[in-house]
Amino acid sequence: MATFDTEYDLVVVGSGTAGTMAAYIGAKEGGLKTALLEKAPQTGGGSVFTEGHAAFESSEQKARKLPPRPGMHYPTRVEGYQRYIDYSHKRAKPEVVRTAVNESAETIDILKSLGLVYTHVDIYALEQPSELASAHFSEGLGQRMHEVLIQAARDAGADVFTSTPARELIVEDGKVVGVAAEDADGQALRIGAKAVILAGGGFGANVEMLRKYSRFAANAEALVPLCPDTNTGDTVNMALAIGADTFEIGTLALVPLANGKNLAAITNGAGSQPVLWVDRTGRRYWDEFVALCFADAANVIASRPGGVSYSIMDQDTVRHLIENGSDIGLGEFVKFQTPMVTLQTELDEAAAEGEMAWKADSIEGLAKAVGFDPAVFRATVDQYNEFAAKGEDPLFFKDARYLRPILKAPFYAIEMRGGILGSVGALNVDGDMRVIGTNGEVIEGLYATGEDAGGLFGDNYVLDVPGTASGFGLTSGRVAARHAAKVIKV
Ligand SMILES: Cc1cc2nc3c(=O)[nH]c(=O)nc-3n(C[C@H](O)[C@H](O)[C@H](O)COP(=O)(O)OP(=O)(O)OC[C@H]3O[C@@H](n4cnc5c(N)ncnc54)[C@H](O)[C@@H]3O)c2cc1C
Repeated sequence: MATFDTEYDLVVVGSGTAGTMAAYIGAKEGGLKTALLEKAPQTGGGSVFTEGHAAFESSEQKARKLPPRPGMHYPTRVEGYQRYIDYSHKRAKPEVVRTAVNESAETIDILKSLGLVYTHVDIYALEQPSELASAHFSEGLGQRMHEVLIQAARDAGADVFTSTPARELIVEDGKVVGVAAEDADGQALRIGAKAVILAGGGFGANVEMLRKYSRFAANAEALVPLCPDTNTGDTVNMALAIGADTFEIGTLALVPLANGKNLAAITNGAGSQPVLWVDRTGRRYWDEFVALCFADAANVIASRPGGVSYSIMDQDTVRHLIENGSDIGLGEFVKFQTPMVTLQTELDEAAAEGEMAWKADSIEGLAKAVGFDPAVFRATVDQYNEFAAKGEDPLFFKDARYLRPILKAPFYAIEMRGGILGSVGALNVDGDMRVIGTNGEVIEGLYATGEDAGGLFGDNYVLDVPGTASGFGLTSGRVAARHAAKVIKV
């Protein structure tokens, strides 16, 4: 018989998007004695970075009737379901997709009931016509959403323990009955639980796991985590250690990133534009308009040799970005067609450091600064300029509007990598977020949510449904806690 230092009905591991919602629902709706364990000194995880979260047929969509874009409509649940399934090339798991879609509207109502105020429901990339208008944006975005939820969880009676990493699952007769953790003083703590919900945010900050599982294993070191550095896959490993199965565990949500910069940096915004992109040999390799879908773009970049790419532009293009803004936006981080007024200063400062941006008065000078073979790079630039002059790209068929020539000195290069928003495949779960073992059976007492749960995606993060990761985090946390409460009360 396992012994414990303390006992709860429900233990939730991780206090980000999924975990905080799970703790709130467990304590409030389920009336469960709930503990929320957080490894970091503060709560919130990646939830505080998010802009919008996805939902279908929500009260906010219904109240607005039409999105603020001509020719668009708010998607039905069926459209949402089909988009996930189709986008994944039928690799997503129907029961997980069904839950994510069907339960999403109630998630919005719950957040509203807690005082969250939604400002708009829209797409993310204004120039991206294939997106569904699923992203719900609230006042204060993810930061406010977390404040509202964590307060509600505390008010409902959940005990929140920060600096308290979970280390292992405690199993008795095949059922999860608790968690071995470490308290804020580093002391071992055994917590009994009738159910455990894993919400550790995946393994985006664990380079060994990226090397082991991700599709970019060879370039894992070049990937740059943007997710919290505490998202190291502990919870995934805890489940694997007791026989959990995986589902598309290697899938990552990536975004192009200027190394060392954050998503809001103007240098990053410039490097993400569909200018000339070359690999580390100085050769062009893709239709750069892939930038329109940041997940695809970053996948392409992360697959290059060394996991790096260089965005090349001349002074005229820099001036264009300063005066007219981006050709491609990135939500609130890089606003579409909003003048990048500080670009020259930021770029010059970054070039002076010479680590991820370079500036030179000649093409050959730029090649030497970055480390390309000057002759190869000169040939690439000459060919690209020819294509720009003709308004035709016979190599990759890029839209002629984005064939900006490289003619006017000085010339610039920005090194881009795959930035990790999070890992988005991991443990195999059913539609109630119960973890499934390698024997195909549910592991009793164990749930996985948010980025710890696989099933919504195939081999790529779906940007066609904006707000997907945090929408799924919220809804999966809710569904898991509700199911746990039902089981515990029986
Ligand atoms: C910069 C950025 C912008 C983003 N923008 C959006 C957006 O606009 N829309 C969208 O849908 N998604 C967005 N995302 C993704 C979204 O933030 C995540 O998908 C979501 O937060 C995942 O929720 P989660 O609960 O699974 O993990 P998280 O919210 O990251 O929470 C995981 C928590 O678990 C804790 N933890 C880990 N291991 C342990 C352990 N052993 N013991 C205790 N605690 C542990 C971590 O410290 C962390 O606090 C963005 C991500 C980033 C990084």
